[in-house]
Amino acid sequence: MSVPHAAAIYSGDYHAVPLSHDSYHILDPDDFVASAVCWPGNTEDVSKAVKWANKWKVPIWPLSIGRNLGYGGSAPRVRGSVVLDLGRRMNKVLDVDVENAVCLIEPGVQYVTLYEHLQSIGVGNDLWIDVPDLPGGSVMGNALDRGVGYTPYGDHWAHHIGLEVVTPTGEVIRTGMGSMEGSECWQLFRYGFGPHQDGIFTQSNYGIVTKMGMELLPNPGGVRVFMAAFPQYDDLHEAIEVIRPLMIRKIIGNVPMVRLGLQDASLYKTRDDFELDERGVVKPDSAQKVLEELGTGAWVFYAALYGPDDVTLAKYNYIQEQFYKRIPNTKFYQREDVPENHYLHNYARFTTGIPTWRELDRMKWIPNAAHLFFAPLSANNGKDAGRQAAMGRKRMEEYGFNYLGTFFIGTRAMHHVISFMYNRKDIAEKKKALTCIRALIADAASIGVGEYRTHLALQDQVSKTYNWNDGAIMKFNEKLKDALDPNGILQPGRSGIWPKDYRGKGFEL
Ligand code: ADP
Repeated sequence: MSVPHAAAIYSGDYHAVPLSHDSYHILDPDDFVASAVCWPGNTEDVSKAVKWANKWKVPIWPLSIGRNLGYGGSAPRVRGSVVLDLGRRMNKVLDVDVENAVCLIEPGVQYVTLYEHLQSIGVGNDLWIDVPDLPGGSVMGNALDRGVGYTPYGDHWAHHIGLEVVTPTGEVIRTGMGSMEGSECWQLFRYGFGPHQDGIFTQSNYGIVTKMGMELLPNPGGVRVFMAAFPQYDDLHEAIEVIRPLMIRKIIGNVPMVRLGLQDASLYKTRDDFELDERGVVKPDSAQKVLEELGTGAWVFYAALYGPDDVTLAKYNYIQEQFYKRIPNTKFYQREDVPENHYLHNYARFTTGIPTWRELDRMKWIPNAAHLFFAPLSANNGKDAGRQAAMGRKRMEEYGFNYLGTFFIGTRAMHHVISFMYNRKDIAEKKKALTCIRALIADAASIGVGEYRTHLALQDQVSKTYNWNDGAIMKFNEKLKDALDPNGILQPGRSGIWPKDYRGKGFEL
């Protein structure tokens, strides 16, 4: 395919989503490029587009908003695909059921627009949303990619309820109670009758979701946020051991996080504020000096407690005691203890469902910063967290990158999200980032650690690491693909699932 305006494929950033490619490209910029973008206005238009694609056997790639930062942006996996930009015209909040705290949305509803909608209809104080790091993404797109946020509803997919889907051959289905004509429970009961299909529409290429129900968080009557700083790098193990029972017993009810101190510092500082070694990695002494100046630790823990003040105070005291028993020199901070520019104030917004753009400050860490995430799943225990952090740090420093990791803590498992920042205009650095992350995927697999989500360019490699019983799961995925999408038009290659006509023809990376 010739690219008439080659310069255009280098364009874009978080605010200017290009739709045709990934603005934070990790391969050559023209590797994953669309040939056309179309804007369906409703489910019927989507179905028509899908039938057209079947007729001409053209690959199509749906987007809700197309931000997908660090995981491939708006790029399609197969060059020349037609992008269906659902978000442009299908962007309405279709219903808010205030009494049951649930809404029905279209693909183009962003966190920030859902927040504004709830404010505009006068229920913003009663019903909260769960925002991830940045609020410009699609509520639906993020849930379909199984992203996480910070409130008790931080597992976004777990809080969806009911889907409308256009299948790869153009039929329209509704799942759960939505599959029954006249039911009033589509957004109230997720299962319906018979098999429960919803999961197969996440991180997959089995359907285009055109409507989704989402639970909203009723205002719990107060929030107390706090930060705990642990002075030593090796405190990670004990910190996670203290946190696990607090999570399993629901004493902490949100999705809290433990973050490397240096990652926390990247909100306030750029890499130039530190002394670097010959590989470009921040020297430990220099990091220590800055962490002390910021009053933070080698690792920091952010959490939110929900409910009236008296309730959260009792919990806060109990939690402090648990940490002091195992890490006596832990330092605790609440909002009144920290300066105005401290992230804890933004955290207080996140955990009450108020959008903030603070995370974009990290993009100042290096010039022309692009993000790429390595995101293994960890058991919620000190041993797994410690070995994963050590693995990430060793491999990344070998390639001249700082390990910048955060553990987002669920009840029994943690999303360990490691941020690679590279200069997207420096071709050598970009190559190094790609080689390094490929090595990390292999390192992780060799000890039975798998990623919960990955960049488009790495989905073949990651899907192969899910290899139990001779790769039985991919054989099953391929059977489904062939049955649902006989012409192989919908998102070929997503999550490593290729339609039969593409297999073994050199598409895999
Ligand atoms: P966001 O802007 O919220 O980060 P995207 O719109 O970029 O999310 O979508 C993230 C991923 O999910 C992409 O791979 C995209 O193809 C897929 N996706 C998004 N919306 C839909 C949808 N409505 N139906 C099917 N897949 C979708």
